[in-house]
Amino acid sequence: MKYDRVFNFSAGPAMMPEPVLEEIAAEVLNYRGTGMSVMEMSHRSKAFIQIYDDAVADLRKLMNIPDNYKVLFVQGGGTTQFAMVPLNLMKGGVACYVETGAWSKKAIAEAKKYGEVKIVASSKDKNFSYVPDCSDLDIPENADYVYICENETINGTTFNKLPNTKGAVLVSDQSSMFLSRPCNVEDYGVIWAGVQKNVGPAGMAVVIIREDLITEDVPDFCPTYLSYKTHADKDSMYNTPNCWAIYCCGKVFKYLNDLGGLEAVEKMNQEKAQIFYDFLDSSELFKGTVAKEDRSLMNIPFVTGSDEEDAAVVAATKAAGMDNLKGHRSVGGLRASIYNAMPKEGVEALVEFLKEYEANK
Ligand SMILES: *Cc1c(COP(=O)(O)O)cnc(C)c1O
Repeated sequence: MKYDRVFNFSAGPAMMPEPVLEEIAAEVLNYRGTGMSVMEMSHRSKAFIQIYDDAVADLRKLMNIPDNYKVLFVQGGGTTQFAMVPLNLMKGGVACYVETGAWSKKAIAEAKKYGEVKIVASSKDKNFSYVPDCSDLDIPENADYVYICENETINGTTFNKLPNTKGAVLVSDQSSMFLSRPCNVEDYGVIWAGVQKNVGPAGMAVVIIREDLITEDVPDFCPTYLSYKTHADKDSMYNTPNCWAIYCCGKVFKYLNDLGGLEAVEKMNQEKAQIFYDFLDSSELFKGTVAKEDRSLMNIPFVTGSDEEDAAVVAATKAAGMDNLKGHRSVGGLRASIYNAMPKEGVEALVEFLKEYEANK
């Protein structure tokens, strides 16, 4: 392979598109005649403001974001959003959460610090291997919002149908599926995503929030930085933003637009996932762990049924240039994360390798 890169199946930080990395490499010492790197550039400079404006415009185009939604770049990765959501939106003190795995559990634990959390549906009974039916949830009238983790990175499930929130605001953690398929932004009050899964370097979240949800009405103890209004009022430049991440993400937004937008991206992702799921469904040795209708296109957990065998497969794949197939430490087994930037060839190579491994047993 060019540059001696491996197929990196990591759940995050994860692969970025090679053409984007090449562009970044070409600009790293002298960004377009400015004589400096984006890493060395003032966030108030003309060159950086252009980078920021282009990033927002390209994301707006890609997701077809309506005018009454703001795009924010907030530092602190995905985890900071677990606190920002309740701090800003739990005005009546009650929020509903759907519990589908490790990341929604973290969000629930954080929200409990700020108010009452009602778990309105859960897939805990079957080890988070499916998405519960959310068509008729018991949502109290005073609920401030309904929260989902739309793709559970560790457990490998995805919502293919959004919950019926009965009029309440829907908040979605899209970290590990952001920009993997078309998304109707108007269905949500807030969409947020830590960017290191499907977009760029770690440490930042993109937040897409409906304007009427950005208010001064936050608890007195809410840190200035954790108020959405702070970021909205200053176009994400209340303090020095994560300039490097904004620059890299902006390049990915443009790259995805050039590929043909999210319909084209979804088609590629479906093709890739199909190759892997077809293999799992035909293998005697390797088994998927998720209910078929709720399978993620991005994160595919699978097992052999033996911890020793799983470890042997991880070692063998690594030696063959396919890295990071170990399942999350909380669930074990194996996991192939095949985000937007994983080429189809990577998935095909992995399937070929696993087929041969099985045949030679
Ligand atoms: C990775 C991840 C997070 C946390 O992101 P950090 O940037 O590590 O804080 C939150 N939610 C989901 C679904 C994730 O996959």
